[in-house]
Amino acid sequence: MKNQHANPGVRQVRPRNESGRELTLTFHEKRRGKPPRHLADLDRGERRELLEQMGHPGFRADQISAHYFTHRTIDPDRMTDLPENGREELVAAVLPPLMERVSSQVADGGKTLKVLWKLHDGVVVESVLMAYPDRATLCLSSQAGCGMACPFCATGQAGLSRNLSAAEIVEQLRRNMEIAESGELGAPRRVTNVVFMGMGEPMANYPAVREALRRMIEPAPEGFGMSARNVTVSTVGLVPAIKKLALEGMPVTLAVSLHAPDDGLRDDLIPINSRYKVGELLDAARLYFVKTGRRVSIEYALIKDMNDHQWRAQLLAAELNRRGRGWAHVNPIPLNPTPGSIWTASTAAATRTFVDTLRAEGISTTVRDTRGSDIDGACGQLAAEVVDRDNVARRAKKAQEAVEVRIMEHRAEPKDLAQQLAAGRRGTDG
Ligand code: SAH
Repeated sequence: MKNQHANPGVRQVRPRNESGRELTLTFHEKRRGKPPRHLADLDRGERRELLEQMGHPGFRADQISAHYFTHRTIDPDRMTDLPENGREELVAAVLPPLMERVSSQVADGGKTLKVLWKLHDGVVVESVLMAYPDRATLCLSSQAGCGMACPFCATGQAGLSRNLSAAEIVEQLRRNMEIAESGELGAPRRVTNVVFMGMGEPMANYPAVREALRRMIEPAPEGFGMSARNVTVSTVGLVPAIKKLALEGMPVTLAVSLHAPDDGLRDDLIPINSRYKVGELLDAARLYFVKTGRRVSIEYALIKDMNDHQWRAQLLAAELNRRGRGWAHVNPIPLNPTPGSIWTASTAAATRTFVDTLRAEGISTTVRDTRGSDIDGACGQLAAEVVDRDNVARRAKKAQEAVEVRIMEHRAEPKDLAQQLAAGRRGTDG
């Protein structure tokens, strides 16, 4: 098939940066603000222990947990099953306030709400609540900032401030449940779905994310009792962590932010690809499917004239099919240009061709709904108001220009494409 979209003569990008600045990954936190101790950091046994250490009967832990996870409240006045004497102090000690709602922005006719939260040490994170007719989905943050430095993502430009604690992640959910149930987005709704697609790389904050996942899916009074399949962890592809998660016995949905089926391009789009290559990543994703029975989502931000070529759709299909049938679902999403972005979303025609090509190869594919782009609340746009946005824009532009030179070399079809596609067609049934 002839590629209709790659036209080397037409570039959407103007300036070249010959310096080829290397993007740096960050795994270490700039700030270490240990959040206050909170019940949601602990499992049921640890909660009992804590209460006993504090001189209370252990069963109080379950009572307080039920208020938190079932009634979603931290208000001591509503906890009438606790002795009145010392109730406030007890609740303050185990359910301390972890975050303050600083500001909110509404989009999509009142159906999308982005909230800026300030944590105890002044660090800020954002969450995005999306209302649907009969339910709501929460997009939450796992880190303040992000160390993965993907040049098309605003969060990546400011670097990593710090990891969130399990309770800080869980509390984003509880607060947004309150908001959704209060009817702030029109009718009262339940938050039935959670996606770790806000700020941060969840697999780079593994222990806290694992605990937060437990709180989300374990039944009350242990946790919120959400359906594991409705909780999606999205990752750039930290392979060892994916393999670990596959064995945790928590069949949450895994989303892999692939964005390119070839290492040549992915090395520049997702800097961690220099450590974990596409093949290794897809093997880990396939393993996740085998161990959990959950179909893996492959996220693919379509960037005009960069990764949206038809041959890349064919190559992606081949890479998936050679590892088995029906184990992955592709979610293309038109790029949300971030502040300062020199890259733009693929055209509607290119998007259609990309989707049709995948489907023709038997890959189930749905274009993801973009919410909140007019409030910088869409995927990859969360940078938190307080961060200097001009700086974010400048860094995004620089980061993109730095890799643009090399990316130009990766527009053409690889010479052995036919061979690679044939390998995909030979793929086994899985
Ligand atoms: N670090 C994780 C989770 C956060 S980003 C990850 O990368 O998966 C959530 C999703 O938004 C990812 O699929 C990410 O690649 C995508 N994304 C980032 N920037 C984007 C942009 N500008 N437009 C569209 N999607 C973007």
